[in-house]
Amino acid sequence: MVVTRGGPRPEGPALGVDIGGTNIKWVHRAGAAVVARGMLPTPAAGPAQVAATIAEIADARTVEAIGVALPGHLSPDLRSTTTIPNLDGDWQGFPLADTLERATAKPVLLMNDARAFASAELALGSARGHTDVLFMTMGTGIGGAIALDGTVLRGPGDRIGEIGHVTAEPGGHPCGCGARGCLETVAGGRALAALWTRALASRGSGNQDRSATPEDLVRAARSGDTTAREILDAVALAVGTVLGSVMAQLGISTVVVGGGVAPAFDVMRPTVELALRDRRPLIGPVTLLAAGLGPYAGATGAALSATAQPLAAPSTLPQLSVI
Ligand SMILES: [Zn+2]
Repeated sequence: MVVTRGGPRPEGPALGVDIGGTNIKWVHRAGAAVVARGMLPTPAAGPAQVAATIAEIADARTVEAIGVALPGHLSPDLRSTTTIPNLDGDWQGFPLADTLERATAKPVLLMNDARAFASAELALGSARGHTDVLFMTMGTGIGGAIALDGTVLRGPGDRIGEIGHVTAEPGGHPCGCGARGCLETVAGGRALAALWTRALASRGSGNQDRSATPEDLVRAARSGDTTAREILDAVALAVGTVLGSVMAQLGISTVVVGGGVAPAFDVMRPTVELALRDRRPLIGPVTLLAAGLGPYAGATGAALSATAQPLAAPSTLPQLSVI
């Protein structure tokens, strides 16, 4: 089948797929409703196996288009993958869109997972009704996206908005992107786990059977552990500094924070707010919002981006915090 590209998006039901290092999450949307959704382990055998898995999911459902969110970058024409650091196998130059279109006979749209998250939060989640928003996803690393005038910016290769790779610590730890001291090396989940593992080892109380996790650090800080609080305060200062710089540059005063490590942001929030208060004369009051759509936001954004769908109003919106 020949798949038409470049015209208006199809309007029918869509499958949105979010490929993570551990799990593949999918959402089947039709009209403004979620028909079904699910999660399965990401195949470790590489991109061909991942494509076969997505095709299997699509074959079992009635959809007119497929959107796929990936944790990395794409070729300038958004048809192939380039750098996908946290997935097993060789993804460099893999023609994922063509492979899936041959297997399913459906048009396929590829996008970065942070931009998919932002698309969903902008249409249906916390950012609904806002036009200019900075998005930050806290997971193993840190993803980001920017919406201006109500549109999530993408650009060639879907590379716009990588706040995790803004320098937070000049000359700091090496980052997966090739630079040093990126925000991700200071405040990403992997960095938080390493900071807490070192702190526990230095006081001789680490668990030799496993490394500490970001959740361990957050739990310790919440229970009043002074060292854990100091660690998260220092990290929060870096997060607030980077957020403030990017917001000043873009004239954005609204931030949406999500991702599996977002609970750490809740603990950091007072220090982040302090760092952003100094920006008030330039960008006005800052609004920090918790993401509203949960772990299926990326898959939802991929589905919404693959077709033109009516949007349903969310039943509740998360609490606002205005500084
Ligand atoms: Zn980096």
